[in-house]
Amino acid sequence: MPTPEGFEPLSPVIDTHAHLDDGRLRADFAGTIARAKSAGVVQIVAIGTTAADSAEVVALAGSNPGLFAAVGIHPNEAVHATDGDWDAVAELARGPAVVAIGETGLDRHWDQTPFDLQQSWFARHLDLAHRLDLPVVIHARDCLGDLIDQLRALGRPVIGVQHSFAGNWDEASALLDLGLHLSFAGMLTYTNRSLDPLRDVAARLPLDRILIETDSPYLSPHPFRGRPNEPARVAVTARRLAEIRGMDPGQLAQATTDNARRLFRLPSWPTL
Ligand SMILES: [Zn+2]
Repeated sequence: MPTPEGFEPLSPVIDTHAHLDDGRLRADFAGTIARAKSAGVVQIVAIGTTAADSAEVVALAGSNPGLFAAVGIHPNEAVHATDGDWDAVAELARGPAVVAIGETGLDRHWDQTPFDLQQSWFARHLDLAHRLDLPVVIHARDCLGDLIDQLRALGRPVIGVQHSFAGNWDEASALLDLGLHLSFAGMLTYTNRSLDPLRDVAARLPLDRILIETDSPYLSPHPFRGRPNEPARVAVTARRLAEIRGMDPGQLAQATTDNARRLFRLPSWPTL
């Protein structure tokens, strides 16, 4: 039966990137989770972007079955972050509900934090993730080349995910070679022809390296663009991805769920 928004549920799907502490989702948190559950979402990774909201996503994950947390300081927030904030993130990272370090990365689009400062915060996150043996959740906007350079300079594989991937095939291949997974958000569903190359990348990637996400409350899939996004709609993106790859949606759902559970070491229980 279609959801109240009119799309078909799909199960099991995992929303691997949602900003659940955002006020737009917190305003009706119980409803958000209930709608996700009825759309087929089994688990959600809630993502921190500052020390304070990393603490919030950890608290949400600790008190809601099926929710897990990633802790970190987003490159656009790093300009405001202190060493005390970093200590808080590093402390939170040892908690049982924490499955990844991030959101970290680089951003030349908003350019809120001086770029060399972004690079040093990114390096700190990569180092912490490596030391704690946790995957890293990476953000990149208008700077995948810089990002790939910094990762290559580590001289070791990087376990984690390039979230909301929006690059070309060469960039995708470089990230795969480094060991990363790539995650797709609502962009895949947009009707702009300019996104056809991204759909080509999505069609060609090895199935075992693909994740799906909403990036809620951002990046609502078509036809919900312009409204705050929520985890339920990961089913819309998953169905479009299955169509792009010529796959059965149920098989695509199961494969991406298996990938997320393997990468983040999520237990198959509890679910939402
Ligand atoms: Zn994000």
